[in-house]
Amino acid sequence: MAKKIQILGAGLSGMIAGIDLVRHDYEVTIIEAAAGLGGRGNFHPSTHATPLDRTAAWKYIGLDLSQGFRPAKLFRVYFGEQGYDLDPNDLYIVERGARETSLDSMVYREAQKLGVKFEFNQMIKKHTDLPPGSIIATGLFPEMFHALGVPTIEAYGWASRMPMEGEPACVVYFDSYIGDYYYSSTTNGLFFSMLFQRTDVPRADMERCQDFLRRHEKLECKDWFHATNWIPVADARNPRLFAGDKILAGTLAGMMDPMFLFGINGAVLSGRIAARAVYEPEQAQKDFAYYSRNYARNYRAQKIQSRIPAWLKIRLGRRMLTLPKSLLRNALDPDKLGIPGVKEFNLFDQIKKL
Ligand SMILES: Cc1cc2nc3c(=O)[nH]c(=O)nc-3n(C[C@H](O)[C@H](O)[C@H](O)COP(=O)(O)OP(=O)(O)OC[C@H]3O[C@@H](n4cnc5c(N)ncnc54)[C@H](O)[C@@H]3O)c2cc1C
Repeated sequence: MAKKIQILGAGLSGMIAGIDLVRHDYEVTIIEAAAGLGGRGNFHPSTHATPLDRTAAWKYIGLDLSQGFRPAKLFRVYFGEQGYDLDPNDLYIVERGARETSLDSMVYREAQKLGVKFEFNQMIKKHTDLPPGSIIATGLFPEMFHALGVPTIEAYGWASRMPMEGEPACVVYFDSYIGDYYYSSTTNGLFFSMLFQRTDVPRADMERCQDFLRRHEKLECKDWFHATNWIPVADARNPRLFAGDKILAGTLAGMMDPMFLFGINGAVLSGRIAARAVYEPEQAQKDFAYYSRNYARNYRAQKIQSRIPAWLKIRLGRRMLTLPKSLLRNALDPDKLGIPGVKEFNLFDQIKKL
């Protein structure tokens, strides 16, 4: 008789774990708080940018998700008023949410085809309400972080979306009034943007981003909403695969880059790692240690750079892009940056000042 496994959270890492486990003859039920695919809250539909070593990632998870990771055709970075077009190689645009074209829908269809069962509308607040051996994959939501004692920080933002046709693209904007960054990405006829920082963001700053979009990208976006997230970047020792008798996956497990907060690639890989923890726990622990090996170093690097005044960061950013390409590549070596699942980062091969 097939062994039963429960997974909490029908997001990326939870569904990828479910697919791997049914392939290993487990009977899998995924429990989800939202009424359907696309998660709790109002974030989705949304689009995001992420670097990824696609070949290595698909090999590791045993699933080709290329359709959900569309190569960016434009990657533009602004330091203040000055923009630069970088080489968009190795950067992918991902649609999240419940629309047919999203990565979530793609993974969901595969999970259903293989026989993973889903139970929606079930909010579980305590890990102790789940059977031993369950996988918890609840993403950026607070309840399980708090229940499991995972240290988090609150991150705030203003997000916006609107229909927009065009090639997959990503624009990132740093300025002296922005704590972390403002980014926008477009794919599948959808534009999504987010002003994001680790202290609350006044409406006036969102309006400055609106103005930036109007002036530089000729875009008029009116539909904005305020958002709060809990992110597990409050401790250098944050990544953890096991919590008591439970297995953690995705962002809850700390599979997130603490510098730029890329979490999609980490969620994809850690779905497989969490499934492996069920049937090959020692190997899973090794895989987890490998993919999260740079977390502590980058956590410390983020702390140091956060002490640099914002105006100076803008100057340093512009200056950095004038360095020889070989130096740039070394400084931002993906292996050292520690973004899970990223081996190459050729963003600097061609830099065009706008
Ligand atoms: C606005 C925003 C922008 C982002 N931008 C980027 C980006 O550009 N690039 C990038 O790489 N990453 C980005 N991230 C981070 C990335 O999206 C996440 O790190 C990643 O999706 C997490 O995947 P996951 O599998 O851990 O969780 P998710 O895919 O979020 O899935 C978690 C699921 O668990 C469910 N759930 C939560 N709590 C409970 C509960 N108590 N009971 C039952 N179900 C529950 C949720 O409803 C959801 O369906 C962004 C995140 C946000 C919110």
